[in-house]
Amino acid sequence: MKTAGEVLGELLIGCVRALTPEEREKLYVKQKLNGKIVEFILPDEHEACVVYFVEDPVTRSWLSYKSYPTPRVKCKNCKWKGLWSDLKVEEEEMDLTGKVSDLELFHPVKKTVIEKCTICGGTKLKYEDWKFEKADLVIKGTFADIGAVAEVTLGGFFHRMRQLFKVMGMMMKKEVSIKPLRKLGMGILVSKLITGKVSEDYKED
Ligand SMILES: [Zn+2]
Repeated sequence: MKTAGEVLGELLIGCVRALTPEEREKLYVKQKLNGKIVEFILPDEHEACVVYFVEDPVTRSWLSYKSYPTPRVKCKNCKWKGLWSDLKVEEEEMDLTGKVSDLELFHPVKKTVIEKCTICGGTKLKYEDWKFEKADLVIKGTFADIGAVAEVTLGGFFHRMRQLFKVMGMMMKKEVSIKPLRKLGMGILVSKLITGKVSEDYKED
């Protein structure tokens, strides 16, 4: 099964592939996406997806991605440092058998991450987003948040204003963040790429 970060990466590859050569040229050259590295932090999925908008001369691919576990974890007690994926996971079988069916069709397992230091068992853990140093832009939020960012430049004036206030509100509540903020335009562009709204732009002009 693909992780959320991998789905995001595949989705972006599909979007770029679906563009015509002219659209791709505009996106990469005119809108300066060529050579850029964008990191998505999906907090609910505990995953960071680093996307490279770089054309590979060998494979002719326009985009590649890599996924990493996030956040970084530090124990305040013993100073242990690790990643979210290092924490222990408790697996509990869910019993869904019984009156519904005598057949044991499947055994779903409930997984719970134990938020305790793997060395000393301490519960005072400090979390920090996993950041890729060379990223030109970091977008943090859920899939729905990314969709909301994309909506900022779409539709009529009032729709756009409402959407802008919504995104600003989300930013203030730290549900979604775009860093550095001066690259908001690029953030919107990439968000639109994911939600498949880029092609609609070209129809307008
Ligand atoms: Zn510890």
